[in-house]
Amino acid sequence: MRTSAELREGFLAFFERHDHLRRPSASLIPPSDDPSTLFIVAGMQPMKRWFLGLEPPAAPRVTTAQRVMRAGGKQNDLDDVGRTARHLSLFEMLGNFSFGDYFKDGAIDLAWEFVTKEMGFDPERLWATVFAGDPELELGEDEVAVAGWERVGIPRERIVGLPRAENFWQAADTGPCGPCSELYYDRGEEYGCGRPECAPGCDCDRFLEFWNLVFMEFDLAVDGELTPLPQQNIDTGLGLERGAMLLQGVESVFDTDGYQRIMDWVAAESGVAYGDSPEATKAHRVLADHGRAMTFLIADGVAPSNEARGYVVRRLIRRAVQQAQRIGLEGVYRLPAVVLEQMESAYPELREHAEEIERIVKAEEERFRETLARGLKVFEELAGTEAITAEQAFVLAATYGFPIELTVELAEERGQVVDVDEFKRLMEEHREISRAGGERTELQRAADFARAAGFATDFVGWEKTEVLTQVGALEELGDGSFLAKLRESPFYAEGGGQVTDQGWIEQDGIRAELAAAFRFGEDQALLFRGEGFAAGDRVKAVVPWKVRFPTMANHTATHLLHEALQEVLGDHVRQAGSAVRPDKLRFDFTHPQALTPEERERVEEIVNARVFENLPVHAFLTPIDEARKLGAMMLFGEKYGEIVRVVEIPGFSRELCGGTHVRTTAEIGPFVILSEGSVGSGVRRIEAVTSGEAFAYMHAKAEEADELAAELERARKTPKKARTAEPDIVEERRNTAGDVEVIVMELGATTPEHMLQLSDRLMQQNAPAAVVLGARDDGRVHLLVNLDRSLEERGLDAVKVVREAAALVGGGGGGRPTMAQAGGRDPEKLPEALEQAERTILAALT
Ligand code: ATP
Ligand code: MG
Repeated sequence: MRTSAELREGFLAFFERHDHLRRPSASLIPPSDDPSTLFIVAGMQPMKRWFLGLEPPAAPRVTTAQRVMRAGGKQNDLDDVGRTARHLSLFEMLGNFSFGDYFKDGAIDLAWEFVTKEMGFDPERLWATVFAGDPELELGEDEVAVAGWERVGIPRERIVGLPRAENFWQAADTGPCGPCSELYYDRGEEYGCGRPECAPGCDCDRFLEFWNLVFMEFDLAVDGELTPLPQQNIDTGLGLERGAMLLQGVESVFDTDGYQRIMDWVAAESGVAYGDSPEATKAHRVLADHGRAMTFLIADGVAPSNEARGYVVRRLIRRAVQQAQRIGLEGVYRLPAVVLEQMESAYPELREHAEEIERIVKAEEERFRETLARGLKVFEELAGTEAITAEQAFVLAATYGFPIELTVELAEERGQVVDVDEFKRLMEEHREISRAGGERTELQRAADFARAAGFATDFVGWEKTEVLTQVGALEELGDGSFLAKLRESPFYAEGGGQVTDQGWIEQDGIRAELAAAFRFGEDQALLFRGEGFAAGDRVKAVVPWKVRFPTMANHTATHLLHEALQEVLGDHVRQAGSAVRPDKLRFDFTHPQALTPEERERVEEIVNARVFENLPVHAFLTPIDEARKLGAMMLFGEKYGEIVRVVEIPGFSRELCGGTHVRTTAEIGPFVILSEGSVGSGVRRIEAVTSGEAFAYMHAKAEEADELAAELERARKTPKKARTAEPDIVEERRNTAGDVEVIVMELGATTPEHMLQLSDRLMQQNAPAAVVLGARDDGRVHLLVNLDRSLEERGLDAVKVVREAAALVGGGGGGRPTMAQAGGRDPEKLPEALEQAERTILAALT
């Protein structure tokens, strides 16, 4: 037995011969009912339910080769990778497990036989550690284990007692636990520290732990009391890479055959030999380990992100990139392909994920190279000759996305220490402040951020809705959102009545949605929801056209409305406020009384006339005095800068305005006033719609009118007695969704009024209910949807439901969110229309 593959297979086959059931490796992601660790950290973990007696085991004896990952969370060996000869983040654990079957003696016998006979280790080199006892647990030294090792042939002086911290295993503060016993290999005095007390447990490289046997024999109660478990279990873990290292007599796990292709590739690609310098050694090792780990983690479905597991992958890739740079290796994303070649005989399923892994690593690598270049520059500037302070480390991390681990590493290389505890405190404080809610603090925070960024954002939203730009500054808020300042921004930040744009920034297929925009004079700061962005990133910033266009139409319409009101009502009319949104506009103005229908119609007419004249809309910057001379409308009480922006519709309107506008008035499309009313003494409010919204509104109105006309016509034609008050039920279906009764009926010939009466009765008898009625009547179709008030809160709108159904029978309709009616011309399709309405309602309720 010599190679890693021989060791893996030899182990599993040996235990199979000893009646163990061979089981495949589980994924690196723990099952959802085990949140104790970020990743699978031991071979026993996927079998935890069997160990805890929650489920019967597949067999009393089991053996596995389990991939494990010790990074992030409590079991974290990441920082040792590259520093020691024996630590990996991802490794394979060979294990044999007994569920109430053999115990200490059996485990010791099997381990000894495997190590001496199968692995062929010289017994003289083997040492064992046992649990030394612990007064708190009221346990003495594990005598059974000592006797067991002595029995197989280890002399007493090579059996070492280790304390609870080293040799007592427990999964949690309470529950199953027990002493451990480990096997160590003496690599020779030449690897030792030379201290007389050097023995297993010493930190030097002489004694290497390679196999841990856990004897699960107690149940630990809350009060610290130990009672023997009814069923005693064995859980062991032999590190495959450490085993191979000893079998092959090499210096480190990285020198084993299991890493050869990877190590050769790193040397060839970088042109720097492994062992060339301490830095080179570290770089090669980190690349080999992290290359393997990123490959397996991504294959197991973890992608880089700022969340727990994703962050580990991100760190692995970023650390690998950083080490690669030091030895001049380009393109870490090519590493997984080499890992695949090396590992695929043992893990053929990796191949399926090859392309995905490469793509993910490549994207993360590119983005990190940019962050790194910037962060390093800042680090150099900050570092100078003095020590790096915690505050500086904080700025590097919070503002430049420069990982604290890198700061610490770089500082250490210069013999400097970073106060990591203080750094963590600052980070925590920063998160607290970020969490502390409230508009004002949010605005304050954004203002501080904008100031610290040290540059002004160039707002390009007047001309563009999409721009390729750079994130000039970024601050993570720690809650899945971040503040950012773009070099150029298409996002309009609320002001002058126009609401903040919707939109997003994107990069490599990752998006962050705009959640808020803060305006500071001409400047702005943006709040995004999302992650994976850093200062310096090149991004595409997008305001969707279908949101921005109606906003622009509504804004220009507001200017036309302002002028029209003055024209119709008189010069006393002053703007008192406005809200320009994508779906409608609101305009408040001073006027003592309600508009007469004629005035209202006249205003609407004037605005539409200007629209159909297709006047150009110009915007220009000019000194404020110039603007005043031009007679531009200014809002009372508003502060304007020295240079102002004037929006002009020549010959008609001229206003100071920073908003976004259409280029010509025809783009506004139809303009319709929805309502006119009072909002306090002397102030009136008009709500209006333009373009697509206006068309939809007019269309619905026209249909209602048609409907009404048709009804009048029928009422005139149908003899009174034919119109029974109680319609026949042709078909009826009832469903219960939660507490709501959904009733669907097809009725015989009837009128909309009778349907309404019937539906009201059904609503009362079955409350809470949703009622859908349909009837054929003289070549026409009537539909009615009546919904309990509570359904409106659950997102259902009777108007939408009835229109959707009416579309199938070639008609349209309207009404209120709780009651709507519609008509149509295709009675054949009535059953279909009813089903459609039923489906929509049920879908919303389940
Ligand atoms: P160490 O003290 O060396 O970190 P450990 O006590 O954490 O080891 P266990 O948790 O007992 O180790 O794991 C069982 C076996 O897994 C060890 O005996 C060793 O062979 C292997 N192993 C543990 N950690 C690592 C690692 N980071 N890299 C490679 N192998 C490891
Ligand atoms: Mg450890």
